Amino acid sequence: MRSTGRQRREEALPSADVRRGTVDETFVAARLRELVCEDEAALNRRAVWRAEGICEVIAHTRRHPEIYTVGEAPDDVDHAVRAAVFDLSLRLQTSEDEVRRLICTADTARESLPLLWDRARSGLAPMRFVDAAVGSALRLRARVGATEEQQDYAAEATALIDRASAEWALSLPLTAFRRRLKTLTERLDPAPAEERHVRGLADRRVVVEDAEDGMSWIMALVPTVKAVAIRRRLTSSAKHLQKDRREGRTRDQIRSDLLSDWLCGVGTTTAVKTTVFVTVPVGLLAGECTGLAGDAGGAAGLARLVPGEALNPITALDQAQLVGHGPIDPLTARQAFLDAPAFRRVITDPVHGVVLDMDRRTYRPTKAQRDWLVLRHGTCARDGCTRLALDADLDHECMWAHGGRTDVGNLRPLCPADHVRSHRTRIRYRSRPERSVEVVMPTGFRTTVPPPF
Ligand SMILES: [Zn+2]
Repeated sequence: MRSTGRQRREEALPSADVRRGTVDETFVAARLRELVCEDEAALNRRAVWRAEGICEVIAHTRRHPEIYTVGEAPDDVDHAVRAAVFDLSLRLQTSEDEVRRLICTADTARESLPLLWDRARSGLAPMRFVDAAVGSALRLRARVGATEEQQDYAAEATALIDRASAEWALSLPLTAFRRRLKTLTERLDPAPAEERHVRGLADRRVVVEDAEDGMSWIMALVPTVKAVAIRRRLTSSAKHLQKDRREGRTRDQIRSDLLSDWLCGVGTTTAVKTTVFVTVPVGLLAGECTGLAGDAGGAAGLARLVPGEALNPITALDQAQLVGHGPIDPLTARQAFLDAPAFRRVITDPVHGVVLDMDRRTYRPTKAQRDWLVLRHGTCARDGCTRLALDADLDHECMWAHGGRTDVGNLRPLCPADHVRSHRTRIRYRSRPERSVEVVMPTGFRTTVPPPF
């Protein structure tokens, strides 16, 4: 079997960490190695084997529709394929939609993402990663009637997604993988970001989904009676607004606007006062359209995104960022800069001029130190953690009680879960010189720096 990225990262236990070494610990370490390195790879290979098998069945059915149909009608092939999908869904105890999704994933990945598919075949990338990358490939696909230049651009952009995801799949957790993929896809999408945002904005709506035990989701799990009451209040207010004014918005859009206004407390004394950081490149404020999106997919734009450079964090600086969440379109960024007192605007270049060392010899970090760390990290500093730095605790790497200073060189944002683990368990959180945080398990596993983006 080929060695996986995880296997390569297994190292001998550091002697300081095995001071309490016991038989149980060795057992746990050995068992974890087995589970992760062997079972996981076998499961991944099995998932690919199954998806490819399903595609084969469908391809064979297309050639021989008579397996499923009677007579010789012109639409026999369609009926036969639908019947094959149904057959598969019954055998696999899953929905027909799920079978179709699997076929689409496997077909697209084999055709457009050969590197990632190869990783999945060797067991090094779980199917969930392939699913996410296929979503990006489908979004970047050339539309019907595209010019030759547009088709070439779509092919190059997809190849870039393939190279990046094949590399990231080796080390990133799924959430971090998805987030990077989303950022890269947005940078590669030739439609201008404003246009895409306007398109997305038109779809805004409030969805109430039934859950079990008398509960419902409005992306907050609440009792169904309250969910119904919320929706009714939104609907009647929306109806009222539609009657009152010459409304251009649909009822769905009004419901969504009301919900966000109510929750943000717009027009009330309790309106949102927390800080949302938005970094805005200077060029955007002058009204320039920067980033690949603005170049409408021109060759010059793609040249800036060749691998190596594409995955360089510097290129991300010419996009406006909602810190910890990813890029936002220039229109929204400019708007945030102009109004909304709840947004903390930071112009990206001057950020480098922020005073780094603010040793006050006090335990509590200052507001400026916190702001600086939030901007610098965006998320919790631990490898692969995507929780927001804004909500994180500032951890003294060298403890205050042991003489650690309260300055940004000794502070790092750790989400509450990581912060507690760093103090209450034998898991070590080691800051690297560039301030990312490596995790060292007592069982020998170490995280690696996610590849640069
Ligand atoms: Zn964390």
